[in-house]
Amino acid sequence: MTWDRQITLKTSDELAIMRRAGQINAEALAAAYSVIRPGVSTADLNAAAEEVLRKYGVYSPFKNYPGPYPFPASTCVSVNDELVHGIPDKKRKLQEGDIVSIDCGTVYEGFVADSAFTAGVGAISELAQKLLETTERALYIGIEKMVSGNRVGDVSAAIQQFVESRGFYVTREYTGHGVGTKMHEGPQVPNYGIAGRGIVLRPGMTIALEPMVLVGTAATRVFADQWRVGSRDGSLTAHFEHTIAVTENGPEILTLLENNEPPVRISGHIRKESV
Ligand code: MG
Ligand code: MG
Repeated sequence: MTWDRQITLKTSDELAIMRRAGQINAEALAAAYSVIRPGVSTADLNAAAEEVLRKYGVYSPFKNYPGPYPFPASTCVSVNDELVHGIPDKKRKLQEGDIVSIDCGTVYEGFVADSAFTAGVGAISELAQKLLETTERALYIGIEKMVSGNRVGDVSAAIQQFVESRGFYVTREYTGHGVGTKMHEGPQVPNYGIAGRGIVLRPGMTIALEPMVLVGTAATRVFADQWRVGSRDGSLTAHFEHTIAVTENGPEILTLLENNEPPVRISGHIRKESV
């Protein structure tokens, strides 16, 4: 796959817009999280997030995103073995013990925020809980490496090493990405790599970092609807994502709620000091 998308450096005024986009996006994710329970459909989760976007008069860049056919919803809702790009469906009801990923984007004043989490539905297995905690921690471990002067490979390698140390796998086929006026800009930020390699991180870069973790193998498959991506072996998967700015003072997470908390917290591991 080629990746020739441009890297854009944002001004402090643009970062302020992206911070607001991120807050609205976090509120939408928190709203979706709050309705998770057995019997609720994946379309209900999408509707809860959409209601927040509508309240602020903003929209999701996911809606009509080009692909095999335009993406039909504002969020991706992916259950269990589905890793990313699940299409919300009113016939798909959540069951006790499922894990569900919600990925949402917000366009505010022309800038995009992109963030995701995975959470349990009722009581979940020990394996599922370990997977959620690992994926969430991998995201924050990656964020800590997003320091000016570090390279993309430093971030990628930190995520890969942590995930593999816990006995899980990172996908090779889908990656984090720069984000700004477009949802997908440069640089591409894989969840695997070699420390010291790749593009140097600079203040003003804004990146959607998104560990995608699989229990069984790294291999994925695309389902019959041509959007949904899942583990090839049917094993559980999880996905956490924040939009982060590289600043002179370290990484700043842009997709936090107004109280500087993430919309969902699994393991309690969160870096706050640079916000
Ligand atoms: Mg996303
Ligand atoms: Mg993304």
